[in-house]
Amino acid sequence: MEGMEGKKETHVFKTEVKQLMNIIINSLYSNKEIFVRELISNASDALDKLRFRAQTEPDILGNDTDLHIRLAIDKDKKIFEISDNGIGMTYEEVIDNIGTIAKSGTAAFLELLEKNKKEESISPELIGQFGVGFYSAFIVADKVTLITRSAGSEKATRWESIGDGSYTIEEATKDSRGTHIILELKTLDEDDPDFTEEYTIRRIVKQHSDYVAYPIMMNVEKIEPIPENEQLKDKDGKAMGETTRKVRKDETLNSMQAIWLKNKDEVSDKDYEEFYKHLSHDWNPPVEKLHMKFEGTTEYYVLLYIPSKAPFDLFYHERKNGMHLYCKRVFIKDDCKELMPEYLGFIHGVVDAPDLNLNVSREILQQDKLVRNIQKNLVKKVFDVFNKMEKETYEKFYQEFGQALKAGIPTDFENKEKISHLLRYKTTKSDGKLISLKEYIERMQSDQSELYYITGDNLVSLINSPHLEILKEKNFEVLLMTDPIDEWVVQNLTEYEGKKLKSAEKGDLGLDKVDDKKKDEFQTFFNFIKDKLDEKIKEVKASTRLKNSVACLSGDEYGMSAYMEKILKATGQKGPVQKRVLELNMDHPAIMKMKKIFETDTNNPKLKQYSELLFDLATISEGGKIENPSQFSQMVGELIHSAL
Ligand code: ADP
Repeated sequence: MEGMEGKKETHVFKTEVKQLMNIIINSLYSNKEIFVRELISNASDALDKLRFRAQTEPDILGNDTDLHIRLAIDKDKKIFEISDNGIGMTYEEVIDNIGTIAKSGTAAFLELLEKNKKEESISPELIGQFGVGFYSAFIVADKVTLITRSAGSEKATRWESIGDGSYTIEEATKDSRGTHIILELKTLDEDDPDFTEEYTIRRIVKQHSDYVAYPIMMNVEKIEPIPENEQLKDKDGKAMGETTRKVRKDETLNSMQAIWLKNKDEVSDKDYEEFYKHLSHDWNPPVEKLHMKFEGTTEYYVLLYIPSKAPFDLFYHERKNGMHLYCKRVFIKDDCKELMPEYLGFIHGVVDAPDLNLNVSREILQQDKLVRNIQKNLVKKVFDVFNKMEKETYEKFYQEFGQALKAGIPTDFENKEKISHLLRYKTTKSDGKLISLKEYIERMQSDQSELYYITGDNLVSLINSPHLEILKEKNFEVLLMTDPIDEWVVQNLTEYEGKKLKSAEKGDLGLDKVDDKKKDEFQTFFNFIKDKLDEKIKEVKASTRLKNSVACLSGDEYGMSAYMEKILKATGQKGPVQKRVLELNMDHPAIMKMKKIFETDTNNPKLKQYSELLFDLATISEGGKIENPSQFSQMVGELIHSAL
């Protein structure tokens, strides 16, 4: 009995749910059947969760141990139903899960959708990336009713909505554990499939949900022969009436075959792809897959997928790891961080390890030798896949996931070198193309012994940075690093193939000698500038970097780069205030002239003004922010005036 009890409450959906629902309904009109897969997927997840809990709380199953999903259709009433005896939801859980979107980054994602909107529709792939889940029911239904009873609870909850921006919720009764969803179907277009037709449902389940690990049952009409002794016969024993009859029987619609246990040649590309969608909720086909059986002291099965598109929430902390752990086809857990390090968490896959000690709790899993060993092997194989990718394919992949990979450099010491081979950067000489560090080394000048890089958030200002002038003159290539994560990369990757990585903006590049005699001549003048800018800089130095520009700022060899400082500021962290070195170009006419004024007219007030201007120019040229922009523009205005 599923009845009513208690008070009925009406709630409105959160704004983002309303928005998402509209988007889903409007853009999936030619993809209506996906709602079947999405609801089955949720049911399957609910059963997984229950089974996982039953490992530590066996009583939770009670005598309802036959885990399954059931579909039912009614052509006359235009109803589609799905039920499961999984974990179910409590009243609060229904409010939290259905009617709200708990995913972080939802607002950002909706904005992205809005931006990508062409006319009224949005590409299904884009929404698929987000996972339409439960709300897909409203693509086909006028009204959705959900009745659910959480495992271990006596009470049930009834939720109802006609998709108009609000829903009702009330306490209810339900005979057994799990979730039952009833869709009252809309009148669909003529060329839409009829979701109350048995063969339609059979086809959809076969196509999208065949590998679901629980039986998907449906009570179907079958024609069976009437047994001899029940048949109406004449006196000669000849059949007088029907020899067959229609009966209703439960049938399992899916094969439940675990595709990771199959041989590769038994699995079609389509099957692989559908299973990927099931695992990842990503509708874009994966760029690569890896299906293999590891043999050795222990055996285990692996099926991994490398996505082609970065999900919108790739860098959110709450994002789940893509690995699922099974033991002899039984689901153990998803979000299995123990199988894949965080920076490779975007890979989706299944590991089935028959020898796993099933009593292990999550915490022990981390220390489990077998699991650790599996992770090691998986990472190795994944690197092999990356290395074998065609250049173009890899570059596309790198555009999507390069940032994630880079996070491995500071976090995976053991594989740091392997990851370093996978890095790609644009350079001052690559014409906008990405190159590897290996290619960089092959292209090095004969008198060059180190790899030069510069970090910053803007490619154009990096290419034109005054810090690179001496390097450009020597025809040395410079790696242009524009990801914040690159700061951590260079902190942890100080060498590549025995050659040092060197910042173009820090320390002494050691490429040019300063003329000592000339330096001495400038020393008192430099001391004077230092005095005027005392609070802002550490010292004033004759530059060996600058060839054309008048000034730049440089850091200590082991100090923080300007970009790093900017990143810390942007994230609200206060790093230690670092004063940098103001480097001046002794050959620049402006500096020579200032020096002359200094020597003949030390008290000229312009000297202080111009010192400040030099500092501002150096700051601007590296893409930094100056302290007093209006003073700067006033000074430049005056300069223009006097120059004209
Ligand atoms: P997603 O599945 O991507 O989390 P959905 O909107 O499909 O998003 O579902 C939201 C949440 O509602 C699920 O995460 C789950 O907690 C809960 N839920 C949905 N369907 C079921 C079900 N059949 N049984 C139990 N919980 C469910």
